[in-house]
Amino acid sequence: MIGLHDNLLKSFDRWSFLVGGGALVASAILPAAASIAATGERRLSFYQLHTGEKLDLPYWIEGAYVPEALKEINEILRDFRTSEVRPIDVRLLDLLHNLRGALGSDVPFHVISGYRSPKTNERLSSSGGGVAKRSLHMKGKAIDVRLPGRKLRDLHKTAVRMKWGGVGLYSKSRFVHLDVGRVRYW
Ligand SMILES: [Zn+2]
Repeated sequence: MIGLHDNLLKSFDRWSFLVGGGALVASAILPAAASIAATGERRLSFYQLHTGEKLDLPYWIEGAYVPEALKEINEILRDFRTSEVRPIDVRLLDLLHNLRGALGSDVPFHVISGYRSPKTNERLSSSGGGVAKRSLHMKGKAIDVRLPGRKLRDLHKTAVRMKWGGVGLYSKSRFVHLDVGRVRYW
């Protein structure tokens, strides 16, 4: 988060230096930078590829997470195979929010997999789909997504730079795995 903000400030400095700008440049660029840092509202939208469900809503308003919004997010990110709903870690939501902001996009994340029950995870890992036995999906701390209009490679690169947790690129299945566990990438 701090790193991202610093980068924005650095590029802002560089740009304003190049343009030779003063107040005018600052007022033009600050709203964009602020929307990533801390405005009054954080928004997310999802399209669940397996169920066709859609969601688009602010989940954080004026410094607080919105319980009703989190409930709806937990619902759409449930284990669609068993219909089990578990809380999704809000840090994962902030990661998604910031990632989308950093990529300058506002289209919905296409969701391949959010929460996974132990039963589903066991089934997937034993069938050898590259699914870890102790997956963070089972803790509501991981999600597999793609973002239409942005290359997987860019999604991966930007998330790696943010250093919020684990980031994995799955080119064949066309998604990026994101989690709020230990910082690592593959
Ligand atoms: Zn995953």
